[in-house]
Amino acid sequence: MILIVSPFFMRWFVAGYASAITLYPFVILKHERLKKDKVLINHERIHLKQQIELLIVGFYIWYMLEYLYRYYQHRSQYRAYRNISFEREAFDNELDLDYLETRKLWAFRDKQYWGKRKR
Ligand SMILES: [Zn+2]
Repeated sequence: MILIVSPFFMRWFVAGYASAITLYPFVILKHERLKKDKVLINHERIHLKQQIELLIVGFYIWYMLEYLYRYYQHRSQYRAYRNISFEREAFDNELDLDYLETRKLWAFRDKQYWGKRKR
């Protein structure tokens, strides 16, 4: 994992909407202080693992297609994003700092991260 702090990139790439983005092998942060945010870093490390498991490019293709599907389901950009299976796995487990030590291969495919959630 290579941490980069770039407020400019974050503003340009995600319009300031996110605090961090993971583009294997980089995790790009909006602010220097986020380097100390263990939960955020853990969230991004889960995405790094997901990206490796799908040979990087597969992750981005799946992520975009699932985002479109979730948008169709929820009609909300935020809810579409929060319901992508990769995000559900990352948000559900970000507080468990040892999660990656016991995580199963392709865990994002687990049925608990699918189906429609109301939030
Ligand atoms: Zn995420």
